[in-house]
Amino acid sequence: MKITKNLRFCILSALFLLLVLSLFAQDYPKASQEYDISFYSCPRDISPLPLSSRKKVKNIIFMIGDGMGVAHVDSARIKACGANGRLHMERMPVTGLLKTHSHTHLVTDSAAAGTALAAGIKTFNGAISLNPDKKPFLTILEASRNIGKSTGLAVTCAITHATPAVFASHAPSRNDQSDIAPQLLENKVNVLLGGGKEFFIPKSQEGSKRKDERNLISEAKKAGYEVVETKDQMNRVSGNHVMGLFQMGHLKTVDPEPSLAEMTLKALDILSKNKKGFFLMVEGSQIDWAGHANNPEYAIRETLLFDEAVYVALNFAQKSGDTLVVVTADHETGGMSVVEGSLTGEDMKFGWTSKNHSAVQVPVYAFGPRASLFTGVIDNVQVPRKFAEIFKISDFPKIIP
Ligand SMILES: [Zn+2]
Repeated sequence: MKITKNLRFCILSALFLLLVLSLFAQDYPKASQEYDISFYSCPRDISPLPLSSRKKVKNIIFMIGDGMGVAHVDSARIKACGANGRLHMERMPVTGLLKTHSHTHLVTDSAAAGTALAAGIKTFNGAISLNPDKKPFLTILEASRNIGKSTGLAVTCAITHATPAVFASHAPSRNDQSDIAPQLLENKVNVLLGGGKEFFIPKSQEGSKRKDERNLISEAKKAGYEVVETKDQMNRVSGNHVMGLFQMGHLKTVDPEPSLAEMTLKALDILSKNKKGFFLMVEGSQIDWAGHANNPEYAIRETLLFDEAVYVALNFAQKSGDTLVVVTADHETGGMSVVEGSLTGEDMKFGWTSKNHSAVQVPVYAFGPRASLFTGVIDNVQVPRKFAEIFKISDFPKIIP
């Protein structure tokens, strides 16, 4: 009788411990529902999209899968479409490889990698579009705005996080998000969609991470922005400036938030009203975090969410004829590999060699006029330099006086 009681006590204690542990082990979404990939439709036609013979580029859509190496693409394709299938990005007719090291490190961080992709210069890890002497450099987004184009950023992290920040702000550290937030508005970026409301509300307001009492939401409204916080509000926007902050911090990439594809669609709707064209940067921000967590289901889901946004961009570009789409990554994360599995994507096993970024090359995919400029082995700083050449922007890269 006593033994039974002890046994029961042991079982109940173990169950309680498991419950407590499960409550504390929620750094990344874990439930199968969160890793559901049923939203994704593989392309029915897997033939490569045609090469464009046109020369004129009015619009550029630059898409960055943060931390997306070849293995992230492979695992997403095999899982969702089978080994013989293709993702939408894999239908883009021009491919290349991108070298990602920073000025100071063989293994870059997202800020230095982003600075290379935005401002065309190598810098130290952590820098937001400053050179190694901490001088601010013009970004391709700012240069595009200077020649009359509309500009936009759509991401699944906080809009003040490293990758969006490098395109429209300058700071010695990626952690200066309180200083980065107002610069995004001063730069008059037409479309700002993502998370990070905590850096736009005054310090005294609950949940704020600002260092001061500035209310950037009312400042944005005064400057002519429509400020929205839900998908429905976003879809009703009719003006030329929108700031959508859908979470206090990063997005959760589940309903009821707008998906990256939905944000991309709305961004294109707004930006394409400018007859002079636009520059849009779209980032699948969380592929990187899945790599840091060595979590293949998370990596696959985020890569597919990113590819869904690529599909939206490719549809737009196919209709417009004068839009260049370039898809790449800032670096690889996790040293990921696919080492086992069936041709239809069951029983896949993965190898990870790091909890951090790695130094390997990442893929580049391009579609549209001038896409052929993105073939071969490319250094990351060459990407915005090519964009500048395409947009006939002289004097790039360039210090901001
Ligand atoms: Zn990154």
